[in-house]
Amino acid sequence: MKEEYDVIVVGSGPAGSITAKTIASHGLDVLMIEKRQEIGDPVRCAEGVAKLQLKRHIEPDTRWIAAEVKGSRIFAPDGTPVELSEDVSGAEVGYTLERKIFDRALANEAALAGVEVRVKTRATGVIIEGGYVRGITAMHIGEEREIRAKIVIGADGVESKIGRWAGIDTTLQPSELESGAQFLVTNIDISQDFCEFYLGNAIAPTGYLWVFPKGERSANIGLAIGGDACSKNRPIDLLRDFVETRYDDSRILEIVVGGVPTSGPLDEMVADGLMLVGDAARQSDPLTGGGIINAMDAGKIAGEVAVHAIEEGNVSKARLREYDTIWREKHGKRLKRSLAVKNRFVTMADDDLNKLAYSVKDVDFSTMDVFGLLVILVRRNPKMLWSLRKLF
Ligand SMILES: Cc1cc2nc3c(=O)[nH]c(=O)nc-3n(C[C@H](O)[C@H](O)[C@H](O)COP(=O)(O)OP(=O)(O)OC[C@H]3O[C@@H](n4cnc5c(N)ncnc54)[C@H](O)[C@@H]3O)c2cc1C
Repeated sequence: MKEEYDVIVVGSGPAGSITAKTIASHGLDVLMIEKRQEIGDPVRCAEGVAKLQLKRHIEPDTRWIAAEVKGSRIFAPDGTPVELSEDVSGAEVGYTLERKIFDRALANEAALAGVEVRVKTRATGVIIEGGYVRGITAMHIGEEREIRAKIVIGADGVESKIGRWAGIDTTLQPSELESGAQFLVTNIDISQDFCEFYLGNAIAPTGYLWVFPKGERSANIGLAIGGDACSKNRPIDLLRDFVETRYDDSRILEIVVGGVPTSGPLDEMVADGLMLVGDAARQSDPLTGGGIINAMDAGKIAGEVAVHAIEEGNVSKARLREYDTIWREKHGKRLKRSLAVKNRFVTMADDDLNKLAYSVKDVDFSTMDVFGLLVILVRRNPKMLWSLRKLF
């Protein structure tokens, strides 16, 4: 490891790898570090992604695709189903990934583009000089080091500290952090063609439960609820109840726990010499919790802006804000809408959720996406969804 690079990327998830690859492919000198000894492990994800959006970044590969679905089914608390087809199911279904292999494949692409990758290397602080972030301190296999760079990029996920160390307020309220638990379950009879989502205060208060097929009689079954609902309900207990009740012969091969930011993006995603991407910038979807594609999209934009800023010799906050601007133009409105819908849905009683599902029972969803579904819900339930009327 050298003492100086053009860019240091902290974190080797989807955000980090795409950012690092984008910058290195322009010939710049990039270091990407990962605190764990293995990229992609342990998994903290339900591993659902939309096909088309994924293909913008990487060609699908059977080595990291565990299942391919045709659509999704959403179940109201009383069991009323709403079915969406494959092409239109929104951002979170299409493939169920094997993220252990997927994250590593992304990091491999970054490495092949010229990125220096260092695992078991944890950022422990940022170096600030003259108000600019000029590098990081890092612990590399038991040895503390100072590493300098023109730009530091925090891609360090939900637990991100890089932004806070640089003076950006990254605080999340309990209601803005969904707490998730998931089992990789086998020996169950489920359709491998559909992702399923279950709503209801008994199943997942303020959140939802998912069943994502993972091939050969197995699935990721998990749920996430707002941190403010966790004092009364432990996600793992709710999940165990659901799995034991529905799949009495099931076997659990893996347990996943983790948090998803559902606050919507940070007000500030850049500082002098610093950029934040992915969960570190709170770019995951507040309604669904999906963050893989959002992280990759942001990584591409951030990477391109970083290259130009370095070429121009100007890494000031004002220059790097171009990333923030482009990102908000492309994704800001969608995430704002998701946040408003989430904030309305978390206050709903089960009866209201049932009424919403009944109200669209006659609708043909074969050509309609989640946005279309929400438009119809708002039109058919104007009183209940009054606060959302201007968004759709
Ligand atoms: C239970 C659960 C289910 C989910 N399901 C889905 C889903 O189905 N679909 C979807 O799209 N999204 C899902 N998400 C969200 C998704 O996992 C994240 O949005 C996505 O991983 C964000 O990518 P990232 O690169 O920003 O962060 P991460 O993937 O979290 O990567 C950050 C990396 O930074 C490393 N790191 C942290 N601190 C340091 C440090 N100081 N030094 C060095 N390295 C560091 C971490 O070890 C990690 O490898 C889910 C999340 C959870 C918790």
